[in-house]
Amino acid sequence: MLQRYSQFMKEANLIGGEWVQADSGATVDVINPATGLKLGTVPKSGRAETKRAIEAANATFLTFRKTSALERSKLLRKLHDAIMDNQDALAELLTLEQGKSLTEAKGEVGASAAYVLWFAEEARRTYGDVVPSPWADRRIIVTKEPTGVIAAITPWNFPSSMLARKIGPALAAGCTAVVKPASQTPYSGLAWGALCEEVGFPKGAVNVVTGSAGEIGDEMCENPLVKKITFTGSTEVGKILIAKSAGTVKKVSMELGGNAPFLVFDDADLDRAVEGAMLAKYRNSGQTCVCTNRFFVQSGIYDAFVEKFVAASQKLKVGDGTEAGVQQGPLIDTKAVEKVEELVEDAKDKGAKVVTGGKRHALGGSFYEPTVIAGATPAMRFMKEEIFGPVAPVFKFETEQEAVDLANDTEFGLACYFYTADLGRAFRVMEGLKYGMVGVNEGLITTPEAPFGGVKESGLGREGGHQGIEDYLDTKYVCLGGL
Ligand code: ADP
Repeated sequence: MLQRYSQFMKEANLIGGEWVQADSGATVDVINPATGLKLGTVPKSGRAETKRAIEAANATFLTFRKTSALERSKLLRKLHDAIMDNQDALAELLTLEQGKSLTEAKGEVGASAAYVLWFAEEARRTYGDVVPSPWADRRIIVTKEPTGVIAAITPWNFPSSMLARKIGPALAAGCTAVVKPASQTPYSGLAWGALCEEVGFPKGAVNVVTGSAGEIGDEMCENPLVKKITFTGSTEVGKILIAKSAGTVKKVSMELGGNAPFLVFDDADLDRAVEGAMLAKYRNSGQTCVCTNRFFVQSGIYDAFVEKFVAASQKLKVGDGTEAGVQQGPLIDTKAVEKVEELVEDAKDKGAKVVTGGKRHALGGSFYEPTVIAGATPAMRFMKEEIFGPVAPVFKFETEQEAVDLANDTEFGLACYFYTADLGRAFRVMEGLKYGMVGVNEGLITTPEAPFGGVKESGLGREGGHQGIEDYLDTKYVCLGGL
């Protein structure tokens, strides 16, 4: 039944327009997390292959940077169309390597296309400035130029759309790219290479290298031809990449970890809050950096919220993402399940009550039950640590200030959500929360039109919005004298 994806399942690196194996011939297995079975292999590449990919990207950059914004915009529109024409096949490939339901995978592929379309439009709007000059005989002009070769490292939770946010603005700006997808989910990344080739981007504009994260990352950070590193993943690895990029003073964009709080005030619309909670918790089985990590619910509404949230959680259909009607796929691997188990055990030891779920799912493998935990307290590990799984700890609070303080008590600052019907409170809380993104009475807020990104240790830079292309452009000031 699932046949069409195979045309996009490339088991090779794309370097300078050639599909090639690692120099050593070594490969890494790619496993379908729903079945535990091998899906295929990809090259286990290291520094040498990465260096060649960077050189290919640089050679192409010398001509690609001179293309017009309109030309690049048209190519990106074609790329958008190609993604949408193949949405089902790309979604199948995504589900097979990542585990999420086909519905979510289709949604992700659609989001990828939407980002590409957005940046196709933004490509033509990278305006500069003409600045009033303090000198009668000189003029001041400010222009924007493509930054150069960019290197992108992406995670396994959104293997398609995380690349869209990087490849889209890079190509729109006139940059060329070397991409390293996560080893668990390389095929969606390699598919980007195939699609870019198909729609007519020049050879070497997008290069994809799979294999050793450390080696590929080191070459990307240390090679002076790379002018920018863009990364989505853990804060731990982000810090390593920032430090390693310091040697050649590269630009860096970092989309790192989150510890999203979800606040529900007594005056909130309860049904709407539960609906938002379901989206903000269980999307991708809890494996997104904007998934709620901590629910803070005011005492007057606490019991009613928990009851409805538990009932909704129990209705989720867990299973192999390729099966019809499945809403929750497996976690990415057993390591992820073990981390979730540890956090749940810690909470139980410290007095929390598992109201539903709380253990591995009967399906086995890396499936975990949707879980709601009442009586969560700040002493528990998930106050500070990302769960990255379908577990919802619910804390109780009394006052608005207490809720804001608890929500901010983390080194992270990516997304946060809160529910209230009080306009004054909406402004006070929105302004009090130290986060890059705030959902007010909304649990799902990501869209290409808006700037996605975090503050504090959640990252640097923004993806999407008109801000999303700025990171791929350098500003040049020109002083025209002797007039
Ligand atoms: P996650 O917790 O989502 O797995 P990671 O930060 O470990 O996030 O991984 C995200 C991406 O970063 C993956 O593509 C992974 O291969 C890559 N990565 C991991 N370690 C390093 C490293 N030392 N240098 C460069 N990339 C790395």
